[in-house]
Amino acid sequence: MSFDHLGLSEPLTRALTAKGYTTPTPIQRDAIPTVLEGRDLLGIAQTGTGKTAAFVLPSIQRLAADAKRVLPTHVRMLVLAPTRELAGQIAESARAYGQFSRLSVATVFGGTSIAKNRQDLQRGVDILVATPGRLLDLVEQRLCSLSQIEILVLDEADQMLDLGFIHSLKKIVRMVPRQRQTLFFSATMPTSIRELASQYLTNPATVAIKPAATTAERVEQHVTFVNQTEKQALLTMVLRSEPIDRALVFTRTKHGADRVVKLLAGNGIAANAIHGNKSQPQRERALAEFKSGKATILVATDIAARGIDVSGVSHVINFELPNVPEQYVHRIGRTARAGASGIAISFCADDERPYLRDIEKLTRQKVEVRPLPDDFLNQANALRAVRVQAIGADPAPREYGREDHQRGPARPRATHAPQATHGSAQAQGNGRSYANAGRRGGSGGGSGSGSGGGRGRGRPGGGRSMAAR
Ligand code: AMP
Repeated sequence: MSFDHLGLSEPLTRALTAKGYTTPTPIQRDAIPTVLEGRDLLGIAQTGTGKTAAFVLPSIQRLAADAKRVLPTHVRMLVLAPTRELAGQIAESARAYGQFSRLSVATVFGGTSIAKNRQDLQRGVDILVATPGRLLDLVEQRLCSLSQIEILVLDEADQMLDLGFIHSLKKIVRMVPRQRQTLFFSATMPTSIRELASQYLTNPATVAIKPAATTAERVEQHVTFVNQTEKQALLTMVLRSEPIDRALVFTRTKHGADRVVKLLAGNGIAANAIHGNKSQPQRERALAEFKSGKATILVATDIAARGIDVSGVSHVINFELPNVPEQYVHRIGRTARAGASGIAISFCADDERPYLRDIEKLTRQKVEVRPLPDDFLNQANALRAVRVQAIGADPAPREYGREDHQRGPARPRATHAPQATHGSAQAQGNGRSYANAGRRGGSGGGSGSGSGGGRGRGRPGGGRSMAAR
């Protein structure tokens, strides 16, 4: 099926051709005709399924068909999104899809200048993409009015509730005219979301695309059992040995993300971090460098990563496993965008094994065990020596070694012997391992990697090391 069959107008199909899209994704196929009819929609879908175009395309067509003048400070279509990154991403898509449709698009979210928002809203905008908090600030300051809204979109509603936006959301919806079209998207449908949907939607059509669990099917998934204190060394080895185009590394905390970036730098690997403590310009720069390929490694927390829509993410690395299994599916969905495939590697310490079990239960898939690289301890020690030299300190409590494993690592946890895990992992694994991945070059490598254990520093073909990227 092509886009022509969905009833989209010529300016939109032209924009799609310009984007190089030829075939609608399932949610686009199901949602576009319904939204064009003016019906409310309940979409159960997550990012990566093409849902942005599914609501933006038909909405642009409806707004363009009824070329009303928007009043100063007013808005015709409001899209609410949970994070700045997602809001920015939706606005970017709306501009691209609407490039031949002469509609104005603006974004407002925290961390940017109110004066700029005021300027953008002064003449009124056709499509406004906003995070709830900043929008309410603007409404309260009478810089934005919601009384002319014809289409209201709530995107990633489950995340909005998780982030505590429920009161803001309710306040905003009360200010929007009752006579409107409402489009409601959520990746999951817990009771709270179902109730909210039933309050806000009138006789909606429901479109459910792939339960969260099945996105995982396109991603090649591995898990390596490793001590928490040895994860840094493993990450360095993985980043050097895997054929990485772009890698998104997930940590559970902001502090953890910064620490990973610092330690990687100590081993000559350049990476950026993106999380809530970074300023908006820092976040934008990190994202832009990741998109352009200037920095191929981005270390992120879950919330900051919402809305990161970068094609060509070849690897997702879970430096720490998420304690909410759905988050794992969101994370690995950052690779395998729009039908591509990708690789997800999770580092699992002993105390994270229950999280792994929950993930496997949710995805109804067993994650394949990939053993630690051969000679892991020697390599880890060599990397540590390099790091100590480069940044003058090392957070690993002491030299990695068998003694460590017998005594257990610095953090409180069950007795754990990685060598034994290694052995048993090898026995469980199906043969895919770091050691025999066959991707390593023999020499080269980034600055500071001179004593990295004598392996894994070069990259075949490209000749550039991660450090140089
Ligand atoms: P979304 O789920 O809206 O975040 O979209 C996921 C990714 O798929 C984005 O990079 C879109 O630009 C891309 N995309 C959306 N629709 C299509 C399509 N019909 N064909 C190819 N790529 C698409």
